[in-house]
Amino acid sequence: MPRLADPDPPPDPPSLPFATAPYDRQAERRADPDWWDRLVEDPAARVLVVGDDVVATDGDRLRELTAPQAVRLADTAPDRTEAGVERMLLGADDDGPLAAISVPQMPEDLAPQPVRTVAMGLDALQGSLLVHALGLANWHRTHQFCARCGARSTAVDAGHRRQCPRCGTQHFPRTDPAVIMAITDTDDRLLLGHSPLWPDSRFSTLAGFVEPGESLEDAVRREVVEETGVVVGDVTYAASQPWPFPASLMLGFFGQAATTRIEVDGEEVSDARWFTREALSDATAAEQVGLPGPFSISRWLIERWHGGRLSGQW
Ligand SMILES: [Zn+2]
Repeated sequence: MPRLADPDPPPDPPSLPFATAPYDRQAERRADPDWWDRLVEDPAARVLVVGDDVVATDGDRLRELTAPQAVRLADTAPDRTEAGVERMLLGADDDGPLAAISVPQMPEDLAPQPVRTVAMGLDALQGSLLVHALGLANWHRTHQFCARCGARSTAVDAGHRRQCPRCGTQHFPRTDPAVIMAITDTDDRLLLGHSPLWPDSRFSTLAGFVEPGESLEDAVRREVVEETGVVVGDVTYAASQPWPFPASLMLGFFGQAATTRIEVDGEEVSDARWFTREALSDATAAEQVGLPGPFSISRWLIERWHGGRLSGQW
């Protein structure tokens, strides 16, 4: 008897960009005060260059400087003493050490490009290195002074900590947790919202920052009811994505709605709707609804729920 063919399964949703870094962070090497001097003697070392919202590029890839090039850049960068050059050890892969240098003004010959534009087209290694370097560089740029006594602090631990020379306080890099959630009802419809700041057709999963003293699960429930009036019951963790624009960690959840009546807050969310899979497929194919870009955890959550790729983006 011939075997009945299975219906074609939906295509797999894409993997989540920046979520799995294919290099070793080598935290044990950060305590070595001579790490930079050792690194620049290594001919296999590669050094990324990040600036204020820009990154050095080589076409559509990040430019990786050799050690002598990086030293020359560090020595010749303007404004070296105030909010100036920072050196950061990112780790190593099988090809050698990986580091980054942040400069206040990116030389034009390094072909600076906006980080958001470049980040979305990178492979897993370069994408992960960029969000690591960017998270540190953004923090150094905005945390030059001790929050306790106001003295200028100094970068230590290969760029992963700052130390106050006056009062001794240690300062660690900041990461702001934000929840982002795919909420479904008992009919497995997906709740998407629209911000008044977006083009009319754009819809996305709801999201918001976690408040002090709040669990991630409670942050999911609070944000959804604040923005749409929908009450959420069970909440399940899905995945996370570093998002250093400037300092977020996006924590993705699936949540089960206990109610379905929508009443938007009108400020952060001006429209919210329940979508069936078919309705969302049709609306995106007809370009009546635009979704977040394919690199975002929002898109990943939506396509996980849907069971495959959706067309179109905002
Ligand atoms: Zn201090």
